[in-house]
Amino acid sequence: MPYDDSPPPVRRARPLTVAAALAAVCLTAAGCGGGPEAGGAGAAPPRHGADTASSTAPTPAGEQRPEPSGSASVEPAPRGPLSGRTVVIDPGHNPRNRDHTREISEQVDIGTGRKECDTTGTATDDGYAEARFTLDVSHRLRTLLEADGARVRLTHDADRPFGPCIDERARIGNEAKADAVVSVHADGSAVGNRGFHVILPAPVKGGGADTSRIVRSSADLGARIAGHFVRTTGSTPSNYVGGNTGLDTRNDLGGLNLSTVPKVFVECGNMRDPKDAALLTSASWRQKAAQGLADGISSYLKG
Ligand code: ZN
Repeated sequence: MPYDDSPPPVRRARPLTVAAALAAVCLTAAGCGGGPEAGGAGAAPPRHGADTASSTAPTPAGEQRPEPSGSASVEPAPRGPLSGRTVVIDPGHNPRNRDHTREISEQVDIGTGRKECDTTGTATDDGYAEARFTLDVSHRLRTLLEADGARVRLTHDADRPFGPCIDERARIGNEAKADAVVSVHADGSAVGNRGFHVILPAPVKGGGADTSRIVRSSADLGARIAGHFVRTTGSTPSNYVGGNTGLDTRNDLGGLNLSTVPKVFVECGNMRDPKDAALLTSASWRQKAAQGLADGISSYLKG
């Protein structure tokens, strides 16, 4: 069946008045009180500046943006409640990984062992690839965060033949000194397994991995995302992972093990379940998912 890839409504970044900025902060605060790699978590090579340019006007989600022609042409970053904060979004997998199975099967060091560079990810029974889903949601999320003034960088934008490898994905967040990193995924589990879950880093120390300084902050980030994801999407926490909490903790994901900044993975739903697949292939649902992620990140960044 055809997939609903219609672009989301464009949310233009614009300077906020002080009153509007305060209102946004208050609303959020009131609202919040509070297989990733297996399917393949990802990482990617730094993208020349375009992703880092929070200053450019957002493009409709789902579209790649042209590279800036030069720093002189970059517009000032929009002011907003997230001004001065950096968020790295990691779209899981890469649509072109399927054509580079040899390269992505190369083993990389994840601190506590070795693991495949990247994986192809899963897909719905109708062939909607997880890698397309993750990019679409990531674009939507970028638009929302930039409109609130955040600097946003993607680990990749399908602008490379494959990957990035999971260790590189982690490195991009680290080198950006990101205030928060979210790796976007959808799961590939059995029919009947439904709902979303957020994966948190476990305490891990070994090799080049040491998550001791990000376990608590990442748990906070993940809990806030889970709460907002429920609110915006109406989805329920996973009925097959995390005991209905929507939260899971893992020590086998290089993208988390190697992170030195607060980071979580989000499995937005199960692509192999027809009911979840109907949601994941809906552009309007993906916009709700992106809103939930944005609200959770915003809540975390505001403390
Ligand atoms: Zn995945």
